[in-house]
This record gives sequence, C-alpha cells and structure tokens, in this order.
Amino acid sequence: MRKRIAILGSTGSIGTQTLEVIAQNPEHFEVEVLTANNNIGLLIEQAKLFQPNVVVITNSCHYDQLKDALKDDPIKVYGGREAIQQVVQMDTIDLVVTAMVGYSGLIPTCNAIKAGKHIALANKETMVVAGEIINQLALEHKVNIYPVDSEHSAIFQCLVGEFNNEVEKIYLTASGGPFRGFSMEQLANVTKADALKHPNWDMGAKITIDSASLMNKGFEVIEAKWLFGLKPEQIDVIVHPQSIVHSIVQFRDGSMKAQMGLPDMKLPIQYALNFPERLPSSFKRFSFLDYPKLTFEQPNTKNFRNLALAFEALNQGGNMPCILNAANEVVVQAFLNDKISFLQMPEIIEQTMGKATYIKKPALEDYIQSDKEVRILTAAMVKNLAKQKI
Ligand code: NDP
Ligand code: MG
Repeated sequence: MRKRIAILGSTGSIGTQTLEVIAQNPEHFEVEVLTANNNIGLLIEQAKLFQPNVVVITNSCHYDQLKDALKDDPIKVYGGREAIQQVVQMDTIDLVVTAMVGYSGLIPTCNAIKAGKHIALANKETMVVAGEIINQLALEHKVNIYPVDSEHSAIFQCLVGEFNNEVEKIYLTASGGPFRGFSMEQLANVTKADALKHPNWDMGAKITIDSASLMNKGFEVIEAKWLFGLKPEQIDVIVHPQSIVHSIVQFRDGSMKAQMGLPDMKLPIQYALNFPERLPSSFKRFSFLDYPKLTFEQPNTKNFRNLALAFEALNQGGNMPCILNAANEVVVQAFLNDKISFLQMPEIIEQTMGKATYIKKPALEDYIQSDKEVRILTAAMVKNLAKQKI
C-alpha cells in the first residue's frame, strides 16, 4: 500500500522538496492533497503532474483561475483558509506534511491530529505557539509526530534504539547564519538582501530571516522541548558553521551520538515520510576531503538577542512562546518590507513580551486571542518606529 500524503504548503521550499522525494519513490508514496497560498502557477503545474485527489488555494481570489485550469482533470478544487482545515480530515490521507509557514499552520495541524493523521512536522511555529496542546492531542488521538526540521530529525535519528535510555542533554547545531561574528555596528547596517543570503540552506524568506537573526534557533529550542520532552536546561545551542553535524544527543553515561551529512532537507523529509525504514537515495554524499575541519563555537546571545529571548519565553512558559512567535512574524514582515532595521526586530519583540497579556495555563482559544492581541501591539510599535524614521 502506498502512503497517501497531504502537503500543506506544497509550493514552498519544504513542499517542493517533499514532492521531489515522492517523485523519486512512486512505489512508496502518492499525493492526496496539495495546498498553496498564492502561487497558483506552481500549484497548477504540481496538480497536473501528481494528480492529487484535492487541491486547495488559501487565497480565494485565485480560486476561479485554479478551477478553470484543472477543469479537465479529476481533481477537486477548493478555496479559502477553512478548506485546508477541513481537507486535512479526509479519510484518504495517511500522513500530513505541515510545510506552511508561521502561525497559519496551527489550526490545520490540530484538525489533522484530531482526525488521527500522522504528522511530518516542518511548521515549527505550531510547536512554538502551542506545543503542549499539540502533544496532548497527539497522545489522545494516537498520532505520531515525525520531525522534518533537520536538527530535530537528527535528534530523532540518534534516539532510535535507545528505548528508555535517559537523555542528559541535547546540542542543537546552528550555522550562525550570514552574520556570524558580526559586531553590533555591522549588524546595524545589514540589509534585507544580506539577510536573505543563507550560507548553507536554501529556504523560504521568513525562515531565512529567522536564521540570520537566530530566532530560528530559538524556535528550534522550544520545538525540541515539546518534541522530546526536555527541560530548558537540557537544551544547548552550538554554532557549527559547516552544517554537517545536524545535532547531538548526550546520554546519561556521557556518550554522545550525532547525525551527520551534507545539508539537504530531502533527507530528513524522506526519513519522516517513511519512518522507520530508510529508503535508498541518490542525495550527494559527504566527503571528508571537502571538509578538513568541522568547527564549533558558542553562540553570541548579546548581539543575537533573539536566541536569549526565546530561552526567556521558554522559561516563562504559558503563552509567552506564542507572544514571541506573533511578535516575530510581524517584525520579520516589517523588515522584509523595509519598515524597520535588523536590530529593531529583537528590540520590538522584547518590548512586546513585556506588554502583552501573560496567561499561565492557556487553552487553544487563549493562544488564538493572544496571537491577535500581539499582532496589533507589535504592528503599532512598528508603525511608531517607521514614523520616527521619516
Ligand atoms: P516557504 O515560504 O518556502 O513556503 C511556505 C508555503 O506555505 C508555501 O507553499 C506558501 O504558499 C504556503 N503559505 C504561506 N503562507 C500561508 C498561509 N497564510 N496559509 C496557507 N499557506 C500558506 O517556507 P518554507 O518551505 O521554507 O518553510 C515552511 C515551514 O517549514 C516553516 O514553518 C519553516 O520554519 C519550516 N522549515 C523550513 C525549512 C527549510 O529548509 N525551508 C527547514 C526547517 C523547517 P505560496 O507559495 O502560495 O505563498
Ligand atoms: Mg532547522
């Protein structure tokens, strides 16, 4: 039986690479659902090629065009945000790949879990915002969550076969991004174009900015807490500019296991799709001759304040990671729109964390309200700063 896959965000970096993995393994996987937000051209192309049962375009403006383009194909076409929330529950889906960006992934992921669908989780923001609720739902509905994020896939791979062996700590590796080693003076002048040039990974715009600001690593710390049931003090971040060691687990006897390989997201995607069996692949192999040195250094949390803010949010718990995420989504968008500078991003996030309503034990509805409140609060701060700039 082929595994029937729904890809939420099929036109993005993770979505397209998931389709590459599926195309290379047609005897194992088939595409059941594809969704996109705006990129109608690519969605049509993917639908024609993979012939899913259903496609969804979130931005309803494009619905008529999509419907018309697929009128001769046996494919159901839906539009709007609610459509994604419904199609993830279809009986014919075995696994949902959550490759949408940001908070938009939260409700579809909750619905998919409630319908008993296993999840290949790329959309880390869902775990950042509501990890506790996602875990509870997964437990209740007997759903497995397979990490796609390369660091978490690495930890997951290191844990296979360790059964109840206690983890002492984990080291999440970070490339350090394009601004590794930069002084505050240098960071004050970096541009959007500089931030969008990641040294090792080719990803969507939002996560590329998060990687440059180290917020991505902060999110991954929170994601790791929920995926692996760790305390904040058991999670460490180490900068490894070559991105070959994808992360490390240290067990209670002091032994450390690492997972390594060239940086290629297709590997963790394929592992998540077909766990526990490893499929053959033609991905480029690592050569020690190309990497005479693998280096490791401490992250600079003074200059890259976001990482410290993420640890703070994690330690405070409650809805603080949700506040962190919503503030970050607003400032990243403002930075991409040239409204604020690189260093103003952590500044505004920190202020928001101080101002937004803190809830110690939030329910799903509280997260939804909190996300709304923070977006308004942060947008107002961005507006004020932008005014001062003029
Ligand atoms: P991209 O920006 O490349 O793709 C995002 C996808 O989601 C696109 O298909 C986009 O559609 C769709 N989308 C965007 N906004 C919405 C919305 N509001 N509602 C519905 N769909 C939406 O992102 P990435 O693939 O880089 O990242 C996806 C997720 O995976 C993120 O959470 C990221 O943190 C995580 N991740 C990514 C990695 C990577 O290597 N790229 C590595 C590890 C994790 P459209 O194209 O139409 O705009
Ligand atoms: Mg990662």
